[in-house]
Amino acid sequence: MRQQDIILWDFDHTILNTEQGLYGPLLDQLAKEIARERQFVDEMFVRANDQTFTFSIFFELLGIDRSLWGALEAELQADLRRRMPDCLYPGVLEVIKQQHERGSRQVLVTAGDPDYQRWKFGSLESLQPFFASEDRHFVPLSGSKADVVVEHLDLRHRLTFIDDSARWHYELLSRTSRVRHLRAMWPDTLGVLSHRDDGYLWGVFQSAEELKRLLANDR
Ligand SMILES: [Mg+2]
Repeated sequence: MRQQDIILWDFDHTILNTEQGLYGPLLDQLAKEIARERQFVDEMFVRANDQTFTFSIFFELLGIDRSLWGALEAELQADLRRRMPDCLYPGVLEVIKQQHERGSRQVLVTAGDPDYQRWKFGSLESLQPFFASEDRHFVPLSGSKADVVVEHLDLRHRLTFIDDSARWHYELLSRTSRVRHLRAMWPDTLGVLSHRDDGYLWGVFQSAEELKRLLANDR
């Protein structure tokens, strides 16, 4: 029987250009308004971690009346939703489609506020056909993506885990001997680090073209 490939995809900064593409324009605009209103911009505060991204910190900084927060947030979310399709990294959808056509099972594994992550992923209609509902994992910040990866390691599948953050690769390596054992038995397991240069990796890609080549060479 032909063995099925499983590809586990991270979402933010791997499929979606979250920080620069999605939040960048909005944060720049909010930062300007905050600077105008309050005469200061705390860069660290404004560049809030996207995984705990909330609009309320900006509303608070801007001194906006609380009764307006709900409507304003709905407006900003609608803006994000509209821009989201343009924030997929170039070529990534093509790789996902190609792997789908090859019969690979594609699994989403994203960490963050599950409701917010679900909302973001659900806003991208082009991705929906390629990830079965049981293959969408929204891991809370208190959880671990490594758990999801480990669940998918078994002898019937070749597994590829694609994530821009080195943290999860380290965590996977530091897990039980089962992971090391399987990894040793499983040369096709490939950790791919994208867009950042600060971590351990088995393979790196800087563009979807490179990723496509890596996947093709790995198979
Ligand atoms: Mg990521």
